[in-house]
Amino acid sequence: MRKNIVAGNWKMNNNLSESKALVKGIKKAIKGKELKNTRVIVSPTYVNLRAVVKKAKKSAVEVAAQNMHQADSGAFTGEISADMLKSIGIKTVILGHSERREYFCETDEILTKKVDQALKNKLEIIFCFGEKLEERKNDKHFEIVESQLKNALFHLDAKAWKNIILAYEPVWAIGTGETASPEQAQEMHAFIRKIISEKYDAKVAENVSILYGGSVKPANAKEIFSKEDVDGGLIGGASLKADDFVALIDAI
Ligand code: PGA
Repeated sequence: MRKNIVAGNWKMNNNLSESKALVKGIKKAIKGKELKNTRVIVSPTYVNLRAVVKKAKKSAVEVAAQNMHQADSGAFTGEISADMLKSIGIKTVILGHSERREYFCETDEILTKKVDQALKNKLEIIFCFGEKLEERKNDKHFEIVESQLKNALFHLDAKAWKNIILAYEPVWAIGTGETASPEQAQEMHAFIRKIISEKYDAKVAENVSILYGGSVKPANAKEIFSKEDVDGGLIGGASLKADDFVALIDAI
């Protein structure tokens, strides 16, 4: 059975003491909570990963990296490898976030390599994708999402999907305060499950968690998360305050 997931993408926010305080606050707030089928993940910036991993120990909070380089090692100044992440206790990495695609020129081709590299290193992937406003306005959103998934993930075998979490994040809803309606999210998530089922089988499609991301906050989370094919969220802004983030966990 697929899991519900509430994942906080801290992006380029929180210095060391702020990162420690935030994870401490989350840890404290969820202690003793019945999380049932829900995973809680936070994703701090690289330099604070180790400290947050340490703080999150002996709690239900898992820690993910926000990105990773596709090469094993070598002359890639400023980059971080899968092996480095694993060596500090990271098991999950976010790949394909729209900000990486937009500001750091990450193409489907690069992302395919990152996906393969992560899986080769036994890292779980939160794979992000989603259409831009123009594409939605031109009714191209299904086409775009399908091509993003096909290009970066559909070369994988069915077994590899055990380590894939999907995050549908319409670019027009990220950090804008504008959310997709619960119906729009459900419609896209059902479409995603359908194309996975066609490419693989119903089991792969049923077992993959599909998160929604884009201006999820305590006020709208319950409605979005209640949709049949929405298995939680990847959250930016509202993951930066422990109270808000915990409210999102409660909304699942
Ligand atoms: P937001 O960001 O919740 O601030 O819109 C979501 C994301 O980028 O993952």
